[in-house]
Amino acid sequence: MEEDCTFCKIIRGEKSADFLYQDESLVVFKDIRPHAPVHLLIVPRKHIRSMNDLTEQDKEIVLNMILKAKEMAKKEAIADSGYRLVFNVERGGGQYIFHLHLHLLGGW
Ligand code: 5GP
Ligand code: ZN
Repeated sequence: MEEDCTFCKIIRGEKSADFLYQDESLVVFKDIRPHAPVHLLIVPRKHIRSMNDLTEQDKEIVLNMILKAKEMAKKEAIADSGYRLVFNVERGGGQYIFHLHLHLLGGW
């Protein structure tokens, strides 16, 4: 946990978010500034700065995130029409929140 991290604050309940799912490993909530009719963020509870900081030990976390994204796409009824899964990596890759997250975008 990082004191000043926005997503850690959301996970700790210090900042509100529209949660759609949560378990011991990750949380899913709506993006505050959606770029698509459905725009969810799949966020591990563990504070990992970006993809660059992933280690072998985090394999299961990332796999869980991808499987949950697939499940949420089905739940949001965008699985058949299609969707995008995006990891922005560091500033040049468009990352602004430095706590690993997977964007699920769809429903156009
Ligand atoms: P990034 O550009 O880092 O990959 O994406 C961060 C995303 O988090 C952005 O799409 C932004 O709209 C979203 N976001 C930033 N702050 C908050 C917040 O406080 N609550 C929620 N729900 N989303 C946020
Ligand atoms: Zn964090």
